[in-house]
Amino acid sequence: MEDRVVSNLMVVSPQRQQAVDRLENDEFDLLVLGGGIVGAGVARDAALRGLRVGLIEQHDFASGTSSRSSHLLHGGLRYLAQGFLRLVHEASQEKRVLHRIAPHLAEPLAFIFPTRPGWQWARWKLSVGVKLYDLLCGRRNLGKSSWMGRSKLFEMLPGLRRDGVTGAVRYYDGLTNDSRLVLDTLRSADQAGATLANYVRFIDARREGSRWRCQATCEITGHDMTVSAAQVVNATGPWSDKIPHSHTDLRLTKGVHLVIDRERLPLPDAVVLTEGSRILFAIPWGQRVILGTTDTDYAGPLNAPTTDSNDVRYILDIVNDAFPEADLDENDLISTWAGLRPLVADRNGNPSDISRRHEIAMAEPGWWDVTGGKLTTYRLMAEQTVDRVFGFFGRTSPPCQTARQTLLDSAQTNGYSAILPPAVSEKTVEHYCRNEWVVHLDDLMVRRTYWHHYQPDRKDICRQVAPWVAKALGWDEATMTTELKNHLESMAGGG
Ligand SMILES: Cc1cc2nc3c(=O)[nH]c(=O)nc-3n(C[C@H](O)[C@H](O)[C@H](O)COP(=O)(O)OP(=O)(O)OC[C@H]3O[C@@H](n4cnc5c(N)ncnc54)[C@H](O)[C@@H]3O)c2cc1C
Repeated sequence: MEDRVVSNLMVVSPQRQQAVDRLENDEFDLLVLGGGIVGAGVARDAALRGLRVGLIEQHDFASGTSSRSSHLLHGGLRYLAQGFLRLVHEASQEKRVLHRIAPHLAEPLAFIFPTRPGWQWARWKLSVGVKLYDLLCGRRNLGKSSWMGRSKLFEMLPGLRRDGVTGAVRYYDGLTNDSRLVLDTLRSADQAGATLANYVRFIDARREGSRWRCQATCEITGHDMTVSAAQVVNATGPWSDKIPHSHTDLRLTKGVHLVIDRERLPLPDAVVLTEGSRILFAIPWGQRVILGTTDTDYAGPLNAPTTDSNDVRYILDIVNDAFPEADLDENDLISTWAGLRPLVADRNGNPSDISRRHEIAMAEPGWWDVTGGKLTTYRLMAEQTVDRVFGFFGRTSPPCQTARQTLLDSAQTNGYSAILPPAVSEKTVEHYCRNEWVVHLDDLMVRRTYWHHYQPDRKDICRQVAPWVAKALGWDEATMTTELKNHLESMAGGG
């Protein structure tokens, strides 16, 4: 099949054209709406259990909340203090499952949680809490929690404000790479036979007999299509209550992260920072540190939420209070990102107090809304969703394989950790362009590689790699110039 040129701007690859053709012509058991971690997880699980699966994503895969997280696989120590024991137990188990099925995407990460008298997080409560946290992992957390006296604490964190500090607890969670987790899950779904297309937007659907006929539009060509599926899973995260037929009710909250150079805050482990009942993290990320996050109600546009000066001030004030000598300011920021939590609606109370539980509900016959949850619990959400899909078919489901079967085999991951961005090279660019559904320069710079958030010289890097992308994707000069311009403009907008 020949590459198809769409206006002057884009070339549609044969692989993409095949996926779009299949979406139009095949009869699917299941159509998944949304290519974030939940949609990717559902597609993989359903395909591995033998269903004919299609998945459409309106923008790039992982471009919603799933590339805007804190990169943690965690049970959620703070949810323990809030009494959400079941949630912590589930997430803790999943943390270990992901460590098993995707070792290249789950590194143990130690957290130091300093204690001060009079804080809501009293020392005894924390010491008991972290032991319970280990137990909820089935006694085998990614590392064993411990108590640390003042001298050891200041040896590890010499820049930490000393007054009132009584010591610290040290406990373990996991560090991941959120958008890579989505992409590798999609690669696995693809290998299991799922038909996947980014830049295809769901518009509406109607039920005809026992099937759903779903209208969608290709955002690259403008081509309208109809996809036929027996069941539909609405996994559109923050968008899910805007989707026709959805019965979900969300409360959206925004969370912002800042990235600084690790030399400005040299941390050996992650550090927990507190503000009243809220906790924030300083998370070592290779040569950088991720600081965050905020948690504020949000009613703005869903596409590309932005970081504002209040968000930045709020986080920097808390970090500077804990590490006064760091004296961080706006000039230290390498990048920022902002994401929206699609929380199951609970209109009362503080955003931080709302449970991160998930919900799977049948809104209409064969139409499932899957909402809430966390990156850490996506696999479980997917398993429970696919169980219910089989239940609706009235068929006995083959056993779910996703808790045992590795995400990708070691030949595909080369045995390397994928937590940090890859080195900048033409080979890397070519690989992502050819094998991972890259359509725009943003897709490569932000979600395939994270160079956009990690590299201080990201402007130079995008100019360096644009010709490589152009070569791999068959762009002409005009397309490359437009792509570069769009990408640089999105940087200026704080994206
Ligand atoms: C600031 C922040 C920090 C977080 N940190 C963590 C953490 O460290 N660990 C953790 O476990 N969890 C964390 N979470 C939670 C976690 O990131 C989310 O629960 C998860 O990413 C949600 O995934 P999703 O697939 O439901 O939504 P999304 O990733 O938003 O995916 C939904 C997709 O649907 C697509 N879509 C929407 N409308 C349509 C349409 N009409 N047609 C086709 N596609 C459509 C969107 O473009 C989007 O890509 C964090 C969340 C936030 C906001």
